[in-house]
Amino acid sequence: MTAATLRWLLAVFLLVVTPCLRAQGERSITAPREQLGFNVGDDYTLANYRQLTEYWKKLAVESDRMKLVEIGKTAEGRPQWMAILTSPENHKRLERHKEIARRLALADGVTEEEARRLAAEGRAVVWIDGGLHATEVLGAHQLLELVYQFCARNDPETLRILRDVILLAVHANPDGHDLVADSYMKEQEPARRAIRIPRLYQKYIGHDNNRDLYMSNMPESANMNRVLYREWFPQIMYNHHQSGPAGTVLFAPPFREPYSFYFDPLIRVGLNLSREKFFIPGSVLSMRVDNTHPLAWGMGERADFFYDASPAFRLGPEAAQKGVQAVAWFDSRAPLRSGWAWGQHYLEGAAGVVEAVVGPGKLFLYGPEVTFRAQPHGTFKLLFNGIYYGPARRVKM
Ligand SMILES: [Zn+2]
Repeated sequence: MTAATLRWLLAVFLLVVTPCLRAQGERSITAPREQLGFNVGDDYTLANYRQLTEYWKKLAVESDRMKLVEIGKTAEGRPQWMAILTSPENHKRLERHKEIARRLALADGVTEEEARRLAAEGRAVVWIDGGLHATEVLGAHQLLELVYQFCARNDPETLRILRDVILLAVHANPDGHDLVADSYMKEQEPARRAIRIPRLYQKYIGHDNNRDLYMSNMPESANMNRVLYREWFPQIMYNHHQSGPAGTVLFAPPFREPYSFYFDPLIRVGLNLSREKFFIPGSVLSMRVDNTHPLAWGMGERADFFYDASPAFRLGPEAAQKGVQAVAWFDSRAPLRSGWAWGQHYLEGAAGVVEAVVGPGKLFLYGPEVTFRAQPHGTFKLLFNGIYYGPARRVKM
């Protein structure tokens, strides 16, 4: 993971989550750059856990949306922090909201009528952790940025989330965070910094700290499991990782029967295509383009895309109704223009570029490598149009 890739991933994360960032609160909230001397995601810079701790302590004083809680100690004795983020009004009734989440989760002696009443009174409890696998450095760093933004932003969507949601932002591996960030930053020459850690990032079990969550042998797992299943019972639990290869990675186990009925059967088919059936290792494929769509402005009706084991998307029947739209798609059984493409017919009807409306923002899904060095001439407009189109407003001419 290079710093440039980290920065790119973070930019995508911010593009999706934060259509407009403005810290215009009456109370001033310290930005990461003021505190750390660099922006989260800047090249060749990692903040360590001590810096995160200092920063979160400061934000908890500056913001009435944040409460900092130590959920226990780590294997090496560091305090493990959880930031609780919600509106000041919700903070005043935190114990009540916790009780509601617990009663709804356990449903013990709760009638349907009471459950509905509790659901209306309560708030959605959302857990987002970060840093579990410490060399996946985006995990801990998104927490820094996430907590800052929820303290600082005053746009309507952020305020709505703060009103409706109680966010538990939890650092999953403080020891590993210090180990990785300190060894990375020890190199004085920024361009020579690389992740070379002397040992794995949990004192006893290294990379298997996620496998430990079912048996709670490690203090970090015990701390988190207590908060998750004895105290807060979040309705959404997001365990953050960062994994290669570049692009969207969809991980939807179990991979063998019996499959989860939550997933669209086509996801399963896509995941289960073996390399013998479907293998496009870096080839040029042709797609039909909707050049009346702002994202494809200035392009022709067809374009050649660079595909390198890239994702393609199947839109469900209600996609259009939900504001999801294909901008480029495979309209033939043989889209190959150059290179290899075994099983290319599986792509027929799948979308390669998609726009989805998410809250007040827009999400662009690019399956192909639109910025690949040999290919930008044909497809770079999709990226640059996206940058302008993202914050654009519709006007009458
Ligand atoms: Zn991981």
